[in-house]
Amino acid sequence: MRIAVFAGSFDPITKGHVDIVRRAVPLFDKIIIAMGINSSKNYYFPTEKRIEFIKAAFAEYPTVEVDTYQQLTAFYCKEKGAHFLLRGLRNSTDFDYENTIAHLNATIGDNLETVFLVAAAEYSCYSSTVVREILKGGGNAGIFLPEAVVRLLG
Ligand code: ADP
Repeated sequence: MRIAVFAGSFDPITKGHVDIVRRAVPLFDKIIIAMGINSSKNYYFPTEKRIEFIKAAFAEYPTVEVDTYQQLTAFYCKEKGAHFLLRGLRNSTDFDYENTIAHLNATIGDNLETVFLVAAAEYSCYSSTVVREILKGGGNAGIFLPEAVVRLLG
Protein backbone atom coordinates (compact mmCIF):
# COMPACT_ATOMS: atom_id res chain seq x y z
CA MET A 1 0.00 0.00 0.00
CA ARG A 2 1.44 3.37 -1.03
CA ILE A 3 0.87 5.76 1.85
CA ALA A 4 1.96 9.41 1.78
CA VAL A 5 2.06 11.89 4.63
CA PHE A 6 1.38 15.56 3.88
CA ALA A 7 2.76 17.27 6.96
CA GLY A 8 2.34 20.90 7.96
CA SER A 9 0.69 23.35 10.29
CA PHE A 10 -2.33 24.06 8.06
CA ASP A 11 -3.08 27.22 10.07
CA PRO A 12 -5.41 27.30 8.17
CA ILE A 13 -5.55 24.98 5.15
CA THR A 14 -5.65 26.99 1.89
CA LYS A 15 -6.67 26.25 -1.69
CA GLY A 16 -2.94 25.78 -2.37
CA HIS A 17 -2.70 22.85 0.07
CA VAL A 18 -5.95 21.37 -1.25
CA ASP A 19 -4.68 21.52 -4.83
CA ILE A 20 -1.49 19.61 -3.93
CA VAL A 21 -3.43 16.85 -2.15
CA ARG A 22 -6.07 16.53 -4.90
CA ARG A 23 -3.36 16.18 -7.53
CA ALA A 24 -1.62 13.55 -5.40
CA VAL A 25 -4.75 11.44 -4.82
CA PRO A 26 -4.21 9.33 -8.00
CA LEU A 27 -0.58 8.68 -7.01
CA PHE A 28 -1.18 7.11 -3.58
CA ASP A 29 -3.53 4.56 -2.01
CA LYS A 30 -3.82 6.76 1.07
CA ILE A 31 -2.77 10.32 1.97
CA ILE A 32 -2.57 11.34 5.62
CA ILE A 33 -2.75 15.09 6.17
CA ALA A 34 -0.78 15.28 9.40
CA MET A 35 -0.59 18.32 11.61
CA GLY A 36 2.55 18.53 13.67
CA ILE A 37 1.65 19.74 17.15
CA ASN A 38 4.45 21.81 18.61
CA SER A 39 3.61 22.92 22.15
CA SER A 40 6.01 25.88 21.98
CA LYS A 41 4.35 27.28 18.83
CA ASN A 42 1.42 29.69 18.94
CA TYR A 43 -1.20 28.82 16.36
CA TYR A 44 -3.88 31.17 15.05
CA PHE A 45 -6.56 28.48 14.89
CA PRO A 46 -6.79 25.84 17.65
CA THR A 47 -5.97 22.25 16.65
CA GLU A 48 -9.65 21.17 16.63
CA LYS A 49 -10.57 23.97 14.22
CA ARG A 50 -7.71 23.17 11.86
CA ILE A 51 -8.78 19.51 11.84
CA GLU A 52 -12.40 20.49 11.21
CA PHE A 53 -11.36 22.68 8.25
CA ILE A 54 -9.29 19.88 6.69
CA LYS A 55 -12.06 17.30 7.19
CA ALA A 56 -14.59 19.63 5.58
CA ALA A 57 -12.30 20.32 2.61
CA PHE A 58 -11.78 16.58 1.96
CA ALA A 59 -15.19 15.21 2.91
CA GLU A 60 -15.57 13.67 -0.56
CA TYR A 61 -12.12 12.07 -0.70
CA PRO A 62 -12.22 8.60 0.90
CA THR A 63 -8.45 8.02 0.60
CA VAL A 64 -7.56 11.26 2.42
CA GLU A 65 -7.27 11.15 6.23
CA VAL A 66 -6.44 13.75 8.87
CA ASP A 67 -4.26 13.17 11.92
CA THR A 68 -1.99 14.97 14.40
CA TYR A 69 1.45 14.00 15.63
CA GLN A 70 4.12 15.23 18.03
CA GLN A 71 7.18 13.17 17.23
CA LEU A 72 9.71 13.69 14.44
CA THR A 73 7.96 13.55 11.06
CA ALA A 74 10.18 10.65 9.92
CA PHE A 75 9.25 8.59 13.00
CA TYR A 76 5.57 9.37 12.51
CA CYS A 77 5.79 8.14 8.90
CA LYS A 78 7.39 4.89 10.05
CA GLU A 79 4.64 4.36 12.63
CA LYS A 80 2.03 4.83 9.88
CA GLY A 81 3.81 2.63 7.35
CA ALA A 82 4.19 5.65 5.04
CA HIS A 83 7.16 5.52 2.68
CA PHE A 84 6.44 8.89 1.09
CA LEU A 85 6.27 12.49 2.23
CA LEU A 86 4.24 14.81 0.03
CA ARG A 87 5.32 18.46 -0.24
CA GLY A 88 4.40 21.46 -2.38
CA LEU A 89 6.98 23.74 -3.97
CA ARG A 90 6.03 27.37 -4.60
CA ASN A 91 9.37 29.02 -5.23
CA SER A 92 13.11 28.81 -4.67
CA THR A 93 12.72 29.69 -0.98
CA ASP A 94 10.53 26.61 -0.53
CA PHE A 95 13.07 24.59 -2.50
CA ASP A 96 16.08 25.61 -0.36
CA TYR A 97 14.24 24.70 2.80
CA GLU A 98 12.67 21.52 1.45
CA ASN A 99 15.93 20.27 -0.05
CA THR A 100 17.59 20.16 3.37
CA ILE A 101 14.58 18.62 5.09
CA ALA A 102 14.17 15.97 2.36
CA HIS A 103 17.78 14.83 2.84
CA LEU A 104 17.34 14.79 6.59
CA ASN A 105 14.20 12.69 6.32
CA ALA A 106 15.81 10.26 3.88
CA THR A 107 18.64 9.76 6.37
CA ILE A 108 16.73 9.39 9.60
CA GLY A 109 13.62 7.96 7.97
CA ASP A 110 15.15 4.88 6.33
CA ASN A 111 14.97 6.12 2.73
CA LEU A 112 11.72 7.94 3.32
CA GLU A 113 11.09 9.49 -0.12
CA THR A 114 9.88 13.07 -0.48
CA VAL A 115 7.60 13.64 -3.46
CA PHE A 116 7.29 17.26 -4.60
CA LEU A 117 4.49 18.72 -6.65
CA VAL A 118 5.04 22.17 -8.10
CA ALA A 119 2.39 24.66 -6.97
CA ALA A 120 -0.23 25.52 -9.56
CA ALA A 121 0.43 28.98 -11.05
CA GLU A 122 -2.81 30.39 -9.65
CA TYR A 123 -1.96 29.29 -6.09
CA SER A 124 1.78 29.88 -5.99
CA CYS A 125 1.34 33.09 -3.94
CA TYR A 126 -1.12 31.55 -1.50
CA SER A 127 0.08 30.86 2.01
CA SER A 128 -1.43 30.34 5.45
CA THR A 129 0.65 33.31 6.63
CA VAL A 130 -1.09 35.64 4.18
CA VAL A 131 -4.49 34.30 5.27
CA ARG A 132 -3.67 34.87 8.95
CA GLU A 133 -2.49 38.43 8.28
CA ILE A 134 -5.73 39.24 6.44
CA LEU A 135 -7.88 37.71 9.19
CA LYS A 136 -5.94 39.51 11.94
CA GLY A 137 -6.55 42.77 10.09
CA GLY A 138 -10.27 42.08 9.85
CA GLY A 139 -10.21 41.45 6.08
CA ASN A 140 -11.89 38.80 3.97
CA ALA A 141 -9.54 35.92 3.12
CA GLY A 142 -12.24 33.94 1.31
CA ILE A 143 -10.48 33.70 -2.07
CA PHE A 144 -7.57 31.82 -0.47
CA LEU A 145 -9.73 29.28 1.32
CA PRO A 146 -11.58 26.12 0.25
CA GLU A 147 -15.34 26.79 -0.01
CA ALA A 148 -16.08 24.34 2.81
CA VAL A 149 -13.80 26.37 5.11
CA VAL A 150 -15.40 29.66 4.06
CA ARG A 151 -18.77 28.19 5.04
CA LEU A 152 -17.46 27.10 8.44
CA LEU A 153 -15.98 30.54 9.09
CA GLY A 154 -19.44 31.99 8.40
P1 ADP B 1 4.55 24.60 7.67
O1 ADP B 1 3.86 25.77 8.32
O2 ADP B 1 4.88 23.49 8.61
O3 ADP B 1 5.68 24.97 6.74
P2 ADP B 1 2.48 24.61 5.76
O4 ADP B 1 1.11 24.32 6.28
O5 ADP B 1 2.81 26.02 5.52
O6 ADP B 1 3.49 23.94 6.75
O7 ADP B 1 2.76 23.83 4.42
C1 ADP B 1 2.72 22.44 4.27
C2 ADP B 1 3.10 22.10 2.83
O8 ADP B 1 2.21 22.75 1.93
C3 ADP B 1 4.49 22.55 2.40
O9 ADP B 1 5.04 21.56 1.55
C4 ADP B 1 4.25 23.79 1.60
O10 ADP B 1 5.26 24.04 0.64
C5 ADP B 1 2.94 23.42 0.93
N1 ADP B 1 2.20 24.59 0.49
C6 ADP B 1 1.76 25.62 1.24
N2 ADP B 1 1.09 26.52 0.47
C7 ADP B 1 1.09 26.04 -0.80
C8 ADP B 1 0.58 26.51 -2.05
N3 ADP B 1 -0.05 27.68 -2.15
N4 ADP B 1 0.77 25.75 -3.15
C9 ADP B 1 1.45 24.58 -3.04
N5 ADP B 1 1.97 24.08 -1.90
C10 ADP B 1 1.80 24.79 -0.79
